[in-house]
Amino acid sequence: MGITDITKKYTNGEVTVVWKPACCIHSKNCWNDVTGMPHVFNPFKRPWIKIDADTTEEIINQVKQCPSGALTHYMNGEKEAKKTTGEATE
Ligand code: SF4
Repeated sequence: MGITDITKKYTNGEVTVVWKPACCIHSKNCWNDVTGMPHVFNPFKRPWIKIDADTTEEIINQVKQCPSGALTHYMNGEKEAKKTTGEATE
């Protein structure tokens, strides 16, 4: 399996952050002090995403700012939620 195939997942039980290292363009958006959340995303630590270090909402906001698509997310149990709540509110 080459590096292009690697997908890592980090979950806090509510949201799952998916990281594809082959897509990362190392923009540092997610971990620099200005636009990032270095207390959550820290490539010098393992695991490099500390999924419990901030709220689900904040983490999702950060993931959405990844310019390369290397970071994506999905809500755990999204299918179940859709069934019970109908349409998403956003
Ligand atoms: S924001 Fe995305 S592309 Fe930039 S360093 Fe983080 S994971 Fe890589």
